[in-house]
Amino acid sequence: MLTDFHQMLVENKGVNMSRKGLLIDYEYCIGCHTCEVACKQEHNIDVGKWGIKITQQGPMQYKEEKWTYDFIPVPTDLCDLCKDRIKGGKQQPACVKHCQAGVMKYGSIKELAEYMELKHKTVLFAPK
Ligand code: SF4
Ligand code: SF4
Repeated sequence: MLTDFHQMLVENKGVNMSRKGLLIDYEYCIGCHTCEVACKQEHNIDVGKWGIKITQQGPMQYKEEKWTYDFIPVPTDLCDLCKDRIKGGKQQPACVKHCQAGVMKYGSIKELAEYMELKHKTVLFAPK
């Protein structure tokens, strides 16, 4: 069942659905930093700067016998969704290609919003 927000997205109400984005499905992110390195290499980013950065949530107890402990990759303002790489004919951004856990997906906002409905730990990143 789609939420109102997702329904609005998939029905294309005021949203450019062909716009591309990056879906972060962080349930299985292990915090290995490979995406950070792949992005830095792809864009030749200086030491101390990142196109994507791993953050850590927890460990935190949020209910009796329930704990949360997540790694969440967060694209920075340096992320351009690998515009030149995609224009050059590659199918996926560098971070997506090199993440062995399949945490990130690249595609249209419509495809990504539909995928989000199937998962419970996702964020959608769509820079303009
Ligand atoms: S998103 Fe993938 S590559 Fe990046 S830290 Fe998580 S598991 Fe590793
Ligand atoms: S999409 Fe490209 S620029 Fe953005 S974080 Fe991934 S590798 Fe870096």
